[in-house]
Amino acid sequence: MAPSGTAPSTEETAPETGQLTDGFHLVIDALKLNGITTIYGVPGIPITDLGRMAQAEGMRVISFRHEQNAGNAAAIAGYLTKRPGVCLTVSAPGFLNGLTALAHATTNCWPMILISGSSEREVVDLQQGDYEELDQLAIARPLCKAAYRVLHAEDIGIAVARAIRAALSGRPGGVYLDLPAKLLGQAIDAAEGAASLVEVVDPAPAQFPAPAAVRRALDILGKARKPLIILGKGAAYAQADDLVRGFVEKTGIPYIAMSMAKGLLPDTHPQYAGAARSLALKEADTVMLIGARLNWLLSHGKGKQWGAPGSKTFVQIDIDPKEMDSNQPVAGPLVGDIASCLSALLDGMGDGWARPPAEWTEAIRAKCEANVAKMAPRLQNNNVPMDFHGALGALRTIIKERPEAILVNEGANTLDFARSIIDMYRPRKRLDVGTWGVMGVGMGTAIAAAIETGQPVLAVEGDSAFGFSGMEVETICRYGLPVCVVVFNNGGIYRGTDVNPSGGPDAATTVFVPGARYDRMMEAFGGVGVNATSPDELRRAVNEAMDSGRPTLINAVIDPAAGTESGRIGNLNPQSVVSRK
Ligand code: ADP
Ligand code: MG
Repeated sequence: MAPSGTAPSTEETAPETGQLTDGFHLVIDALKLNGITTIYGVPGIPITDLGRMAQAEGMRVISFRHEQNAGNAAAIAGYLTKRPGVCLTVSAPGFLNGLTALAHATTNCWPMILISGSSEREVVDLQQGDYEELDQLAIARPLCKAAYRVLHAEDIGIAVARAIRAALSGRPGGVYLDLPAKLLGQAIDAAEGAASLVEVVDPAPAQFPAPAAVRRALDILGKARKPLIILGKGAAYAQADDLVRGFVEKTGIPYIAMSMAKGLLPDTHPQYAGAARSLALKEADTVMLIGARLNWLLSHGKGKQWGAPGSKTFVQIDIDPKEMDSNQPVAGPLVGDIASCLSALLDGMGDGWARPPAEWTEAIRAKCEANVAKMAPRLQNNNVPMDFHGALGALRTIIKERPEAILVNEGANTLDFARSIIDMYRPRKRLDVGTWGVMGVGMGTAIAAAIETGQPVLAVEGDSAFGFSGMEVETICRYGLPVCVVVFNNGGIYRGTDVNPSGGPDAATTVFVPGARYDRMMEAFGGVGVNATSPDELRRAVNEAMDSGRPTLINAVIDPAAGTESGRIGNLNPQSVVSRK
């Protein structure tokens, strides 16, 4: 992809006439021309050779054990790099396995391209029962931002260009690209093929807010007595880190960060109101959303935690105009990209900006300090078996000492507690379950984080969550990645203590094999396995893993009775009105 302002490069050496190229090579050349150098996937018919050839052509091709994990890797690669992460799958079942991740990327507004091989159109459309027959294009379309099929080799260049632009422009999202088997082997003249490739110019153009919208938003913020900023992962994605910090600091407004926006400014920042979240949400009179949606994660901007109905005025920056008024009326909509909006706001603020009343900012500071002090002793406990606070207290120190490390996090209690206990210090270092709260992203996310950033990765996983992608520990070992997985093993989903209510011989629905040793899974593939029973042991093992960079899995033995139903979102479970013996 050529950034805005640069002309497409014309320097590749032109092939001689008479030479041939084919669909395989055109796909690879089109991706490379646009700066896409990594593919996540699972080989098989009809794309096995595509992976081989891509590797031969110098691309990084990371083969997984299941497409969903490869897809999750591509999704998070898109978030981390602002380039579409690419996932390559085989037809029908492989495609369907990858589709969950494509939908996940789209839901999270991350750029991703799922490229899948497919069966021949003639047979699929007549439903004649081809090998892995499925109308993949039709199935993908409602689950992503755009879906395209290519039938002729000379169209591959345009198709890849369209896929990249669709994934990156406006609100980013997932794109599906359908490549029937026959296309890959189609031969065309090499010179004609080279000429058909497209280097996309400025795929995510800056979108400037209207001056009147900027003035309106500043007017609202200037009048607020109790303003609050909410930073979302859209702001982290935008990579406008200096502007975000500059804006937050110049306004002096307290802010909270959505899960993956943590660390955009360090969680130790004096304006960070994370530890006073309830007070801030309830009492604020004006709330400014920056790349955050007022969806279920913010209880749609209503209900008890938001104070009296109608008590808030909203200002929102978002690249998607339809996001405005999605849940609450937005009095100050700023439609544009984060960087353009924040620079316009900073310009409009001038030098004489009045910071919010000290009464408000001090009330929040005091609440934060009180809550942090209350929590501190619980994080230092060395209980055996461990509880969540003791174990996470150890990991919290590790991230503090290694702020460059990437924290991957999924689970129920493991997720909820880690989110609030582990402070983040740098942007895009916390990668988790995203908008859907989906379990199973862990290993795909950890692998892509290591590949894309080269930084050590600490994956903090509930034992249930880990199970969805656990086989990828082999992938971690095969590529020798600096990933340390900590499985919070409390023997079950939410807790490990449920019993079968019927008294029958089957295990209860939410429990796993008691005393399981996940560490041995990593040992099976040549990595390091550790069984840790105390916070001290856990700290030692994680530090060793982070120093050595060797693939490591630590089975952290957590009290099976620790943990609550559905973590902090138990209220989303429906209640039965029937009580039967
Ligand atoms: P969180 O879960 O952290 O609240 P969401 O993913 O729900 O974050 O919201 C992110 C929002 O950011 C989406 O509405 C998306 O349209 C928006 N967004 C993504 N990239 C940009 C950008 N570059 N500029 C402005 N808004 C963006
Ligand atoms: Mg568990």
